[in-house]
Amino acid sequence: TEEMLHRQDKLAAVGQLAAGVAHEIRNPLTSMKGYTEYLQLDEKDENRLEYLGIIMDEINRVNEIVEEFLELSKPQPLILETKNIVPIIQNVLSLTEFDARKKNVILFFDCYHEEILIRCDENRLKQVLLNFVINGIEAMPDGGEIKVVTELKEEKVHISIIDTGVGMPPDQLRRIGEPFFTTKKSGNGLGLMISFKIIESHLGRVFVESEVNKGTVFNIVLPMEIVKDFSNDGIEKVGLV
Ligand code: ADP
Ligand code: MG
Repeated sequence: TEEMLHRQDKLAAVGQLAAGVAHEIRNPLTSMKGYTEYLQLDEKDENRLEYLGIIMDEINRVNEIVEEFLELSKPQPLILETKNIVPIIQNVLSLTEFDARKKNVILFFDCYHEEILIRCDENRLKQVLLNFVINGIEAMPDGGEIKVVTELKEEKVHISIIDTGVGMPPDQLRRIGEPFFTTKKSGNGLGLMISFKIIESHLGRVFVESEVNKGTVFNIVLPMEIVKDFSNDGIEKVGLV
C-alpha cells in the first residue's frame, strides 16, 4: 500500500543517513587517531602544537555533525505564527552583510511590498534563508551579487535568492539536499537537506535553477496570508558598498 511504501522510503532514508553519519565521523576519528599516535611516540615532537590544533579542529567537526543530527532527530513541532517576512529577510541580509562585504559580494533586496504576512516558524525560516544566502556567498569566490526578490503569484509568495556564482552542472544539481552531499572542503552537506525539510513542513516548495559559471536561483514558494503595498516604488537595497 501507499503507506507501506512511505514507511519503506523512510527506512531507506534512515539507513542512508546512518551510513552518512558513520562515514563523516570516521574520517575525523582516523585523523585524530593518527596524530595522537604521533604524539605518543614522541612527546617532544616539534610539531606537537600543530598536531594538537588539528586534533582540536577534528573534534569540533565531529561535534558539529552530532549537533546538527540532534537538531534533526528532535521532532520539534513548528511554532507557527503570522509574521511579516519582509523584516525577516532584511534581518538575514544584515546578519550576512559583514561576511559578504569581506568577500566582495553585494547583497540586494528587491521588495515591492511593505508587508507580506505568512504563517511560519520565524527562526526556522531564518535558518533556511541564512543557508541559501551563505551558500550563495560561498559560490562566489571572486565576489559577485546576491539578489533576494519577493513576488506574489496566486496567493503564494515567491522568495528567490539569486547569485552570480559558479553554478552547478546537472549531475550536481540532482544531488543537492542529499545528506552529506557537498563539494566544499569544509562543508558538511546538511544545510540544504535541513532547509528543504523546513520549507516542506511549511507546506512550501523549493525550486532550483542553475547554470555553470552563470549562477544559481533558489526559489522558495510559500502559502501567503495578506499583503500590504508600499505607496512609493518600494525598492529596498541592503548592503550596497
Ligand atoms: P554545504 O554548504 O555544507 O556544502 P549544502 O547542503 O548547503 O552543504 O550544499 C550542498 C552543495 O550544494 C554545496 O556543497 C554546493 O556544491 C551546492 N550548492 C548549494 N548552493 C549553491 C549555490 N548557490 N551555488 C552553487 N552550488 C551550490
Ligand atoms: Mg551550505
